[in-house]
Amino acid sequence: MCWPRHADSMTVGEGSYSLLRTHHALRITFYFWYTFPMSTPFNWQAITDEAVRYLRDMLRIDTTNPPGNELAAAEYLAGVLRTEGYDPIMLEAAPQRGNLVTRLKGDGSLPPLLLYTHLDVVPAEPEHWTHPPFAGEIADGFVWGRGALDMKNVAAMQLMIMLLLKRHNVTLHRDVIFAATADEEIDSDVGADWLVTHHPDLVRAEYGLSEMGGHTLYLEGKKFYPVMTAEKGTCWLKIRARGKPGHGSVPHADHAVLHLVHAIDRVMSHALPLHLTATASTYVQRLARSVGGATGLLFSAVLNPLLHDAALKALPDRSLADALHAIFHNTVSPNQLRAGYKANVIPSEAEAILDGRMLPGFNVESFLAEVRPRLGEGIEITIEHTSPPLEVSSETPLFKLIEQQIARSDPGAIAVPYMMAGATDAKLFAKLGTQCYGFAPLKLQPDTPFDGLVHGHDERVGLEAFAFGVQVLYNTVCDFCGQR
Ligand SMILES: [Zn+2]
Repeated sequence: MCWPRHADSMTVGEGSYSLLRTHHALRITFYFWYTFPMSTPFNWQAITDEAVRYLRDMLRIDTTNPPGNELAAAEYLAGVLRTEGYDPIMLEAAPQRGNLVTRLKGDGSLPPLLLYTHLDVVPAEPEHWTHPPFAGEIADGFVWGRGALDMKNVAAMQLMIMLLLKRHNVTLHRDVIFAATADEEIDSDVGADWLVTHHPDLVRAEYGLSEMGGHTLYLEGKKFYPVMTAEKGTCWLKIRARGKPGHGSVPHADHAVLHLVHAIDRVMSHALPLHLTATASTYVQRLARSVGGATGLLFSAVLNPLLHDAALKALPDRSLADALHAIFHNTVSPNQLRAGYKANVIPSEAEAILDGRMLPGFNVESFLAEVRPRLGEGIEITIEHTSPPLEVSSETPLFKLIEQQIARSDPGAIAVPYMMAGATDAKLFAKLGTQCYGFAPLKLQPDTPFDGLVHGHDERVGLEAFAFGVQVLYNTVCDFCGQR
């Protein structure tokens, strides 16, 4: 049995929210009373409090990568799971690089669902933070800390879902697997990549749910929940130009730095070709249809090759325009430069690292076929790192269920498939045939800060947003895997 079936009563009116903003202590109490009536068999306030405690404990474990030291966080999760009757498997791919996998068995009639999370975080600069990044403090309705959004919040949610499924003896048709891994923020070599290579049977699943999707997007008064169904691949290139060395007092045209700068200018000054992939097109079509009006027409124009560039230029929100550009084009970004060693010496070579990102449907060869002619003759290219792009269908029973859950939990809101320009561990689990969605629900208020907090200063997650996530994710997992 999956209680509560759906969060039908899960609405917090704008009026009540702003009214209660003025009295923080009352706000949380009222919110839960309003959201989860006493008749529900779950005490969601207690469940959220418990999940928040796990989140805060994990934020206090510094898993900055490098060096990672994820073992302490994995051991923490293992401790909680063991007290509830789980027998988690701990796997150390390298000293202190802990990974954890545990499984709740179903009746085997359907293949497993994987909930996966990474335990490492990117570095923080404490001097720029309002609250210390590794203290797990609560202030102003938020839990603060490095990893509060990326992605110890998801680890805490998924842990809570595992505990609830077991506590309530939910009858499952699918095994539910929970995997908490190391090293996602660098290259997953001692995390998901290692796990998929060395212990595939532990994590093989039909579907996977994880980070980078399910957060409220407000557009023209409409609410959307983009769910990640695709991500771009990476192709980091080192490019090198050579020239004639000499004395800095007599500059000449065969200058390595000039050759490099011109190559970068050629590749950056005009966008690489437009590609209308299924995910990006569906995403924009649905936005266009829902918002309607002039903005809807502008979104529709983004999908017209003749109008695409002009439509992006006309979008008033430049961040949105940049984000859309990134999911319709292969891109490169010259993020590192190196040349010369002395002010009066013309160097014989100059190098740059281009962060290349390729769309679904591309591989290194086809990506380079677009980039190389722009760089021009005489530029040497070395591939530094590459990972494949990924695209999963949104025409699946799980995606349909996610759409229903969002519609029920946040009336008026629409779940839409979208492509992430960055990369996650989804592509690694996809090697085992798993269809991964970025769905870690957070109900954000229109004024909630979000963009820039992931990997930025003052990373924090709203308590209300988090409470929503725990419940929606539980209902999704329960409805997808449990007794109907
Ligand atoms: Zn992440």
